[in-house]
Amino acid sequence: MKTIGVLALQGDFSKHAEAVHAAGGETLEVREAADLESAEGLIIPGGESTVIGKLLVRYGLMDPVKRFAAAGKPVFGTCAGAILLSARVERYEQPCLGLLDIQVRRNGYGRQIASFETPLAVPVLGAIPLRAVFIRAPVITAVGKGVEVLAEHKGIPVFLRQGAVMAATFHPELSGDTRLHKYFLSQG
Ligand code: GLN
Repeated sequence: MKTIGVLALQGDFSKHAEAVHAAGGETLEVREAADLESAEGLIIPGGESTVIGKLLVRYGLMDPVKRFAAAGKPVFGTCAGAILLSARVERYEQPCLGLLDIQVRRNGYGRQIASFETPLAVPVLGAIPLRAVFIRAPVITAVGKGVEVLAEHKGIPVFLRQGAVMAATFHPELSGDTRLHKYFLSQG
């Protein structure tokens, strides 16, 4: 059984831990660099990316997480986690890990439709659409050449990967569908 570290500084990390367990994995909470040593993968949850970013810096986790990814271990960021993995955030100065060559616009879906749910076709997960829950999600506004888009909503990439680094701008941990976490567990 694989042990996945779930970054537990802020946000909905406990829902991700539940989703990993439902998908057949073990979890440990990551709050400091030493916690990464026994993790075989890392999830960066949704929450408030500015807060999580500041705490990553404060707890000295930026470089350890970058080294973790450089060692080829799978990393999965959702919503705020996708923002933190990105190379560039429009208009905001905030710490980013730069592990995924994408540019994001925070809260890019606008106030009127800040949160919504939609069936999402994700071919790598099979024919049945995933119920995707978007909550004040970022919009991905540019994607580098090495990045593979695994799902799009209205022409905007919402699930992508670059090697073993994956990001979703929605919340797979809230859908009650374990397929995306199973897919992550099958990486690396
Ligand atoms: N709006 C949040 C941010 O910019 C992300 C929201 C979420 O993770 N659900 O950090």
